[in-house]
Amino acid sequence: MRCLNCGNKSINELNLKIIFGFEDFVPDNLCELCRSQLNPLNYDEGCIRCYKKNDSNICEDCLLWDKKYNIINCHQALFEYNQFIHSYFKNYKWYGDILLAELFSKDLYNWSKSNKFDLITYIPASNGHLEARGFDPVWEMYHKVFDLTSMLVKIDADKPQAQKNRYERLQTPQTFYFHPDRLDIPSDSSILILDDVYTTGRTLMHARQALEIVGFNNICTFSLSR
Ligand SMILES: [Zn+2]
Ligand SMILES: [Zn+2]
Repeated sequence: MRCLNCGNKSINELNLKIIFGFEDFVPDNLCELCRSQLNPLNYDEGCIRCYKKNDSNICEDCLLWDKKYNIINCHQALFEYNQFIHSYFKNYKWYGDILLAELFSKDLYNWSKSNKFDLITYIPASNGHLEARGFDPVWEMYHKVFDLTSMLVKIDADKPQAQKNRYERLQTPQTFYFHPDRLDIPSDSSILILDDVYTTGRTLMHARQALEIVGFNNICTFSLSR
């Protein structure tokens, strides 16, 4: 098996559970060398509400959401945003290398096994982005691992989040609304919202609010990187 990122050989070991069909075989698409450049995030090494590394018990961003919007953040992420993740998203999203959508399948699959929700949804691309890029990067990254329900619609914004500074990001107005065809979903369902990267948390907060407005209140969020 070849690493999807660099082309080196990646090691995939079969165990008895996989051989006898008790566990799905999900290949590791990352080689050891690429994997060594990742910084995994843990619950006990950072903010308990968003996994931000090297921060206090509850980080400033999470305290702000709590104070300003009464939101008790419930976010998990797998890897710290570093140079490796930065290059990954550059190749995947900006250069449009769609094969990279599956680079982290193994990690996402492992996480999905120990975190259960009634419904899993995702941050959709706006129509403008979809047309420009030709694919929806968040959906592509997650749809083979999670059973996704589309619950949010994104309106085209003035400029992409990546081109904004921190202040502009925090000030961004709401650009999501609840999918009108999904009003039959019971409002006591536990919901997970997926995104690719969590920076200030502004995008996921807006997505959360769009769901809260129609009655959902058991919501957690997840991103590959933080
Ligand atoms: Zn590699
Ligand atoms: Zn936090």
